[in-house]
Amino acid sequence: MYKIIDGKKIASEMRLKIREDVNAYVMSSGKNITLAVVMAGDNPASQIYVRNKIKACEETGIKSLAYYLPEDVSQSALDSLLGELAENKNIDGILVQLPLPKHIDTAKSLKIIPEAKDVDGFSEINMGSLCMNKDCLVACTPNGVMKMLEYEGISVSGKNAVVIGRSNIVGKPMAMLLLNASATVTVCHSKTRNIKDICKSADIIVAAVGKAKFLTEDMVKDGAVVIDVGMNRDENGMLCGDADFENVKEKCSYITPVPGGVGPMTITMLMYNTYMSALRSTK
Ligand code: NAP
Repeated sequence: MYKIIDGKKIASEMRLKIREDVNAYVMSSGKNITLAVVMAGDNPASQIYVRNKIKACEETGIKSLAYYLPEDVSQSALDSLLGELAENKNIDGILVQLPLPKHIDTAKSLKIIPEAKDVDGFSEINMGSLCMNKDCLVACTPNGVMKMLEYEGISVSGKNAVVIGRSNIVGKPMAMLLLNASATVTVCHSKTRNIKDICKSADIIVAAVGKAKFLTEDMVKDGAVVIDVGMNRDENGMLCGDADFENVKEKCSYITPVPGGVGPMTITMLMYNTYMSALRSTK
């Protein structure tokens, strides 16, 4: 019998706790916690993401400052704004909504964000610290997955974990977090051979591929935990994950749905990182 992990419920409980912690911080320090959100251009998906991030800030008592730059913003104008936000002591976190317009050198701009304000956890220093298992700001989606496992009491230590996908924002930090939690980790990608056999040996599978119905029931052993990070559209245009949910769920002990699984955790972890960033700056 499988259990569906309710990401919405876990995220909403976490947001309540973050709100309490933020309020306590504001009361004791007399200082707001502030997240700066920078967006360039009018990509409709980015607009929705930014709106949801601002809403989550309101919900958790974090002050948000949104900067909407035009599509044709110059590299120097964007970089000088990021430089000002980096210097501003009242700003605890800086989030640049990706993708940036094509003419912008994204890596160059992101490098301006100091690691202490890098609430996405994408910087080389934060990624390096994660590899060294040091305290740092961790990428939101994989950190959200770890919180879900923890919430459900699913132990990771000694388990065989398979991560499908090796992107810098999901797959790699996910693998590092699982390794740091003492799982034996295998990372699969588009050049991996025998992916079915590798997945079949897993106690925990995290799918971050970006392909609907990629993970099928014959790839999953009985009792496995399946965490589905994918966000895809099926043949009817409905949001779906990487797992063939209806068939895979029967094999699992736990499985996350899409929507309502990992997705709600990602923005919650951004709020958590912003709070952590404020806390660290006052230590
Ligand atoms: P990405 O950068 O496109 O990476 C996809 C990974 O999947 C790559 O490492 C790729 O391998 C691998 N892959 C592609 N085809 C494969 C195959 N046939 N067999 C095995 N591996 C294969 O994507 P991402 O940014 O990591 O995102 C992955 C998914 O998660 C997407 O659906 C995205 O929308 C979703 N996502 C969700 C959230 C959330 O909050 N829920 C957050 C972030 C991302 P190569 O490296 O060899 O190309």
